[in-house]
Amino acid sequence: PLSMFDSVNENRISVCVRKRPLNKKELTRNEVDVITIPSRDITILHQPQTRVDLTKYLDNQKFRFDYSFDEYANNELVYRFTAAPLVKTIFDNGNATCFAYGQTGSGKTHTMGGDFSGKKQNASMGIYALTARDVFRMLEQPQYRRKELSVHCAFFEIYGTKTFDLLNEKAELRVLEDKMQKVQVVGLKEEQAMNEQDVLELINKGTLMRTAGTTSANANSSRSHAIFQIILRQGKKVWGKFSLIDLAGNERGQDTRDCDRDTRKEGANINQSLLALKECIRGMARNSSHVPFRQSKLTMVLRNSFIGEKSRTVMISMISPGIASSEHTLNTLRYADRVK
Ligand code: ADP
Ligand code: MG
Repeated sequence: PLSMFDSVNENRISVCVRKRPLNKKELTRNEVDVITIPSRDITILHQPQTRVDLTKYLDNQKFRFDYSFDEYANNELVYRFTAAPLVKTIFDNGNATCFAYGQTGSGKTHTMGGDFSGKKQNASMGIYALTARDVFRMLEQPQYRRKELSVHCAFFEIYGTKTFDLLNEKAELRVLEDKMQKVQVVGLKEEQAMNEQDVLELINKGTLMRTAGTTSANANSSRSHAIFQIILRQGKKVWGKFSLIDLAGNERGQDTRDCDRDTRKEGANINQSLLALKECIRGMARNSSHVPFRQSKLTMVLRNSFIGEKSRTVMISMISPGIASSEHTLNTLRYADRVK
C-alpha cells in the first residue's frame, strides 16, 4: 500500500490545471462558465458564443494534463496531487519546485499562500503551509531523525530585474553566478523554523511585506514573482530544497498596448521570464544538458531546480471560469500544454 509520501505519479515534471469557482461578481452578472472538467485529466474550454470575432474560437478546445482540478477541489486536494509527492524529493537530496501560473485573479495566491481574503488570514491551508506540515511530519520518521536535519525558510520576490528579500525589509539582493555556474542570491535571509507554526509566521510576515509600502514596486503583487523556499540543512550543508513560486500574472506579459513605457518594459520582462521558464522546464523534460537559465532572473535563481536527476517540478496552471477571461484562459492552457 502507498503511504502518503509515496508518489502516485513518478513523472519528473507534472502539469496540472485548477479551475476556480465563479466569484460573487461573476455570478451577479450571470457570467457564462466556459470551462468543463469531465474527468480528472481533461479540461475543455468551450467556444464563446458571444464574441464578435469567432474565427479564433471555432471549436471547443480540449486539453489533457496530468491532473485537472475542478471548482470543487480544495487546497488540500490540490496539494495532495501536486506538491505532496515531491516532499520526499528534498529528503533524498533533490530539488523540488512547484509553480502557480495564470492570470491575475485566477487563484495563484489562494492556492499557494492560502485564503487571505477574509478578516482572518488563513495561511494554514495553502500549499506553502501544507508542504511545511509534511516536511515536519517526515522529519519525525526514524531514518530522517538520525540525519539531524534542520528546516529553514527564505522568501523573496523578483520584480523586473530586481530581487527583494521579503523576510528582511525588502532589502535588495544580488544574484551572482560563480565559475562553477553555481547561482547565489547574495545575502538572502534564511530563518530557521522549529515547527509548522514558525513557518506560518514567516509566510504571514513575507506576504504582508510583499504588499506593503506605497512605491510602484509594491503597489501590485501581480507584477512580481514570489519565491518561498523550504531548505533542509545538515549542519551548514544544504540537504534539499523545495521552492514554491507564486508567479506574476501572465496577462501582464501580454497587455502591452495602450500603456506607458515603464509598464510596457515591465510587461516585456514578465513575458521574457515566463518564456524562459517554459524553455527551462522543457529542457529538463528532455534531460537536456543545456538549460537556458540565463535568459531571466527567475530562471537564474532556480537554476539548480532544472538540473540533476533528482529534481522534480510541478506546475499548477490556474484558470478563471468566466467567459470574460476566455482569451487569457486559452493562453494559459496553451502555455501549460507546451511546458512538457
Ligand atoms: P491571483 O493570485 O492569481 O491573482 P487570488 O489567489 O488572489 O488570484 O484569487 C482571486 C480571488 O479569488 C481571491 O479573493 C481568492 O480568495 C478567490 N479564489 C481563488 N481561487 C479560489 C478557489 N479555488 N476557491 C474559492 N475562492 C478562490
Ligand atoms: Mg496573487
